[in-house]
Amino acid sequence: MSISLNNLSKRYGSTHAVENVSAEITHGSLTAILGPSGSGKSTLLKLISGLEAPDEGRVIIDGDDVTDVDPRHRDIGFCFQSYAPFRHMNVAKNVGFGLKVRKRPAAEIDARVKELLALVKLDDKASRYPSQLSGGERQRMALARALAIEPRVLLLDEPFGALDAVVRQELRQWVKVLHEQIHVTTVLVTHDQQEAMEVADQLIVMSAGRVVQSGNPLALYESPATDFVHEFLGPSTVFGGVVTRPHDLELVSVYDGAMKGRITSIVSLGFEAQVTVELSDGTTTWVQLSRNELSKMGLRVALLVGVRRRTDADF
Ligand code: ADP
Repeated sequence: MSISLNNLSKRYGSTHAVENVSAEITHGSLTAILGPSGSGKSTLLKLISGLEAPDEGRVIIDGDDVTDVDPRHRDIGFCFQSYAPFRHMNVAKNVGFGLKVRKRPAAEIDARVKELLALVKLDDKASRYPSQLSGGERQRMALARALAIEPRVLLLDEPFGALDAVVRQELRQWVKVLHEQIHVTTVLVTHDQQEAMEVADQLIVMSAGRVVQSGNPLALYESPATDFVHEFLGPSTVFGGVVTRPHDLELVSVYDGAMKGRITSIVSLGFEAQVTVELSDGTTTWVQLSRNELSKMGLRVALLVGVRRRTDADF
């Protein structure tokens, strides 16, 4: 189901948590709301869910104005980082909870829980208790629970935040695959640009309560509308007064069309190397090279080099 956010604003005292936000979340997409801490991401998610009411603006889900509709009647599944399972209920009972509250027949609940546990690959853990699951398994149970009511929209607030890096990475891939299978419109909040770029097919980038840019992740990465988006979405440096991706620069030994400079440091990070150059105009920039390029050019600290933008032909 598509979601339209129309001129939403939410203030807490003098804090403008969300200010005049408009965005379109397309049907079946996996959209990430991305921004630094305090930029209003969670507040925006709460406005979609109905856990908070906007001071101004409307929330439209699939053509229905739900701004004044109680969260329980919005057909939304939630999954939050701080998700607290019912500790006295086993996995199957946790997953089926929403359906039981909705007084669905027992046979229907059993069938749906079975189907969901197979989907999140916890079918062999149905009778375990939450304390007997790993962090990643608990989070998968939370997702199954959110999906049990067949929501129109799935909202995930930093769902992998509390997990270690390896499990996080696994779950990201897993959520992507799950989304490809069930295609429920999903909105994920994250402050982690890599997570957003990897998982989402649409991004909404926020800063200080406002949307600064939205669209396809690659398009935003390649054509950021502002320096903020540029810096937030990936490595960046400044060259010739313009914010630039360090892998879009190259080092040359002839100065033809290049700016002269002196190498001040070389940091090797496995496959890539970061070479910092103090330029003749007094500014400093850094260039990302492959290990191969670094060794071929025989670069070392204090060497004089030219820096220029790579031309398309080099890619
Ligand atoms: P994010 O999710 O991007 O970290 P939030 O939406 O949580 O940002 O917060 C946006 C701003 O609103 C922050 O300045 C935060 O302190 C403030 N804020 C959020 N919730 C409340 C609240 N319940 N009461 C007061 N201020 C809040």
